[in-house]
Amino acid sequence: MATVAVMGPAAALTIEFDFDDDGFFAPQDRRDLLQAAGDYVGGRLTDSLTVIDSSGPYDFFPGYSDPDAGFVYDAARTIPEDTLVIYTGGRDLSEGVAGEGGPGGYKTSPATQEWLNNASNRGQVGDTGLSSTSTDIGPWGGAIWFANDGINWHFDADPLSLEPFSGIDFFSVAIHEIAHVLGFGTAPSWNRLVGEDGFSGPQAVAAHGGDVALSGDDAHWQEGTRSTVAGTSQEAAMDPDINAGTRKFFTELDWAALADMGWEVQAPDGVAGVEISPVPLPASVWLMVTALAGLGMLGRRRSRNLTAA
Ligand SMILES: [Zn+2]
Repeated sequence: MATVAVMGPAAALTIEFDFDDDGFFAPQDRRDLLQAAGDYVGGRLTDSLTVIDSSGPYDFFPGYSDPDAGFVYDAARTIPEDTLVIYTGGRDLSEGVAGEGGPGGYKTSPATQEWLNNASNRGQVGDTGLSSTSTDIGPWGGAIWFANDGINWHFDADPLSLEPFSGIDFFSVAIHEIAHVLGFGTAPSWNRLVGEDGFSGPQAVAAHGGDVALSGDDAHWQEGTRSTVAGTSQEAAMDPDINAGTRKFFTELDWAALADMGWEVQAPDGVAGVEISPVPLPASVWLMVTALAGLGMLGRRRSRNLTAA
């Protein structure tokens, strides 16, 4: 939760994509659609995330899991305020997996404790890095990857309007994976709220009517979990899979979980006119959309050589 009063209207977060790609995102319309997914998610988040500044005496090297290369670090870079950076591209994923995503890690040059603390939580002081105590999250970003082969992708140039389609909806998979970058199923502030009966965050419990059962990985809602989008029932975006011919927006339950993890979630604005209607296509192709377990586990990787500075 923000602890500093912000003057004026709260600004949405910017989600910036860094393409480390083998061709999947060569068509500009695919990049535009991914940005639309980022804007859809970031547009309702109003946290004040501080800059992680590499322009001065200290350097921040974001790191992330790449299915092709393992865990890699980028060159030192500044993460602008109120901005998340997500590395992305097409990759050869396991059969039946449409996308993978999770938060990143990082290493730094030797720096002051204050600078290191800021790199860790970006001013979100409830982010302690520990699952026992974290009530908030202040990440720099992470990585999401999309299957090159074996998926009949549907790219919708206008994802906020809905027409019948076949194929696996790229927009739906993108927002699902972005949620993993935001810590859904992966962050200490998520883990703190996971118990034997599922997820017990108070806003999610209110939206669901009780603790929310989780899938076996404790990183998704139980398959088939439903909630609402603008009052209309929909399978939650953060259950483990997606049906062909289906668009899944974030439901009230999905947003509530992000709020429980410490994100400042504002009421819907630009999506007020969205109508969700059942798409009458056969439920024939179920494809897993899974969190990349290794990413979550690496979420706090860092390399610090502390010196007095
Ligand atoms: Zn997932």
